[in-house]
Amino acid sequence: MTITRHRTKPIFVGKVQIGGDAPIVVQSMTKTKTENVAATVKEIHRLEKANCEIVRVAVPNQTAASAIKEIKKRIKIPLIADIHFDYRLALISIKAGADKIRINPGNIGAGWKLKEIIKAAKDYQIPIRIGVNAGSLEKQVLDKYRSPTAKALVESLSNTIDKFEKNNFNQLVLSAKAAEVLTSIAAYEEIAQLYSYPLHLGLTEAGLPFEGAVRSTTALAILLAKGIGDTIRVSLTGDPVLEVVAAYELLRSLALREYGLMIISCPTCGRCQVNLIDLTEKVKRALIKYKEPIKVAVMGCMVNGPGEAKGADFGIAAGKRAGLIFSKGNIIRKCAEKDLVSALRAEIEKVHKLK
Ligand code: SF4
Repeated sequence: MTITRHRTKPIFVGKVQIGGDAPIVVQSMTKTKTENVAATVKEIHRLEKANCEIVRVAVPNQTAASAIKEIKKRIKIPLIADIHFDYRLALISIKAGADKIRINPGNIGAGWKLKEIIKAAKDYQIPIRIGVNAGSLEKQVLDKYRSPTAKALVESLSNTIDKFEKNNFNQLVLSAKAAEVLTSIAAYEEIAQLYSYPLHLGLTEAGLPFEGAVRSTTALAILLAKGIGDTIRVSLTGDPVLEVVAAYELLRSLALREYGLMIISCPTCGRCQVNLIDLTEKVKRALIKYKEPIKVAVMGCMVNGPGEAKGADFGIAAGKRAGLIFSKGNIIRKCAEKDLVSALRAEIEKVHKLK
């Protein structure tokens, strides 16, 4: 099965294209106080190392908005300013060099404030994300629907898009996030039918890393498999680097992006005679810097391992105090358990240079 993506209008965030024929872009958001420039830049450098392609920072006050100028000087990836309530923070952020801003139509206020933001975005030629959030819908929309249903999210978004279009602004990215998976799916499906602006996918309040990654993946995978979505954020209550790791894992699971090392490992069973969790962690540490797409299997027995993982480029099948190194299901060599990881790495390096 191959996924046919909905074709959307391309926009540029700095040099990064979202929509059109661009690959689905991975983004994350810092958790530091943005006004703490050193801490924010440090976190963004960690995200860049994890191959995060765009980063968003919260802008809750003027000091944070002004800090964007200095942060931008020290990072490589494009930066988005996240604005709630105060339109003046959007104006300061745009002047400070933000590559895009995100506004929440539920709390940005009167129409003239939006016009000011649109004018500044036009002057500085940057796009805007209209980021509807189920937890902060406009009062009139909530009064009409009584709860933040998918229809309510779409209506809030449509009302705001109208205002942008009336002001001849179309450098838009759209999102409509809810904490409920089914609400999010229904909302994004309708938006994809109605508009050709690129879509930013995500859930709000997804949860701790394990639960949050599962919930986000449930929603995002269904949408992505239908060809919906141009950029994703896997929101997690945890290290933002994990958001990036989860996003890439999701995208490559759907064959939408190829990136770096993919480790597959068996769940183990009564045939396993090795500490496979420990062995898998060692393999990951030994190969983590790999940037080329490569699939490596770590299997818990020599009888079934090579065959079960014949789709892997390379693999280990561990047995009692010894194991096999294999490639595409074919056994290359046998060695002692203590040498398995180094032997695997040596075999991979014969074919792919480790960076
Ligand atoms: S590879 Fe071997 S140890 Fe792992 S699940 Fe399969 S049979 Fe069990």
